[in-house]
Amino acid sequence: MGRIALVTGGTRGIGRAISVALKDAGYRVVANYCGNVEAAEEFTNETGIPAYRFDVSSFPECDAAVQKIVAEIGPIEILINNAGITRDSTIHRMAYQQWEDVIHTNLTSCFNMTRSVIESMRDRGFGRIINIGSVNGQAGQYGQVNYAAAKSGIHGFTKALAQEGAAKGITVNAIAPGYVDTEMVRSVPHAVLEKIIARIPAGRLGHAEDIARGVVFLVADEADFITGATLSINGGQHMY
Ligand code: NDP
Repeated sequence: MGRIALVTGGTRGIGRAISVALKDAGYRVVANYCGNVEAAEEFTNETGIPAYRFDVSSFPECDAAVQKIVAEIGPIEILINNAGITRDSTIHRMAYQQWEDVIHTNLTSCFNMTRSVIESMRDRGFGRIINIGSVNGQAGQYGQVNYAAAKSGIHGFTKALAQEGAAKGITVNAIAPGYVDTEMVRSVPHAVLEKIIARIPAGRLGHAEDIARGVVFLVADEADFITGATLSINGGQHMY
């Protein structure tokens, strides 16, 4: 039987594509979601992948959920920290809550989930952790100091954790997507989106499957020498 993979925010958007691609590649996949029960039920009905509801910004909820999944499905060997939100505003209009929600859901969640699975990965001598960052964490973005700070933090988190995991067979990598056609991006005003697409050399938004293919590549047993890396998947929008 395939290794068990947990995808946070795995029922919609990029996470959904990751869940499906991992299942197609032979992994036993478990998805997480937070509040959209209807989408989660539809996801499970269509894919056969179980979905667990918990808030990744809460450490107690993550820890309890991981224990439940381990008891019901088995040990988590692959963790995809994908769940994320935006609460955009320029800083002079940003409420503290917008800052806190984005930092906790996008960045603190990586600690919450990783802390809950890492001891088991260390004991087993195997682990794959992929953190979904963003081009806007690499390059910054007007109106997104909260999101850019959280995503930039993910890239630092990845490199430090990679150093800790390497001797225990645990690889840790980040994927930095460019603009991908999901509900998150559909909330960007049309005129702003057109300007963004004009700056993408590939001339289009990414598809969720473009990101999922990167995940499947990085979690493979054979990818054991790739750690601490950031894979940019952005149609050439940002290179460095
Ligand atoms: P979507 O808004 O389409 O989906 C978000 C998913 O995350 C949903 O499954 C949602 O669950 C879940 N989620 C949100 N908050 C929580 C929470 N507190 N606890 C658990 N699950 C939660 O997002 P995308 O697919 O567009 O984005 C996925 C990731 O990719 C994010 O980290 C995002 O920042 C990143 N990204 C996206 C880009 C894009 O252009 N779309 C570009 C760069 C990075 P529910 O259905 O219950 O709400």
